This record gives sequence, structure tokens and C-alpha cells, in this order.
Amino acid sequence: MEILNNKEEVREKLKNNPLQAAHLLRLNGYGSIKYKCACGETHDANGKDVSCKGSAKPFKALLKCSNNFVTMIKIEGFFRKKAISEYGFKASIMD
Ligand SMILES: [Zn+2]
Repeated sequence: MEILNNKEEVREKLKNNPLQAAHLLRLNGYGSIKYKCACGETHDANGKDVSCKGSAKPFKALLKCSNNFVTMIKIEGFFRKKAISEYGFKASIMD
């Protein structure tokens, strides 16, 4: 996973892969989807401590965890979903 260190890098990523509303991606029906977070821990994309901040095409979600890190995951698989972490950053760099 790529770790972004400043606002410009985040903007550049989002320019190439624009964010859409979080509700366009429905993760709820898939049960637990574990992903590697930018904070170093592994979370469940459907966990209570994780909130979905946006989605992107084709099947990506921008997730924020309770440690205040944001991670873009790509969901793969048909019956069994798995999440590939593409990049992440500390939420505070966007303040
Ligand atoms: Zn985390």
C-alpha cells in the first residue's frame, strides 16, 4: 500500500479516481471484509469503528478508521470478497 504524506498527493489520487457518494457502494450485504489499514492494523470494512467516506469506480471504498486514518480499498472476488488496500493517509493531513 502506498502511504500519502500530504494534501497534494491525496488530491492527485482523487483526481485520477474521483470520489462518489458512499451509498453508491453497498458493502453491508457482504459480511465481514477485512482490510489492511494505513494505521497498520487490520479492520473490518463493515465494522462499527470504520466509516465509509466515499466510493470510487469500479468497486472501491474510502474508509476511515477510529485511529483517524483513511484507506482506499479495492474490493475483488465474486462470492468471497477480499479487499486490496491501494493507498492510505492520516486523516489530519486533509484538515
Ligand atoms: Zn486503521
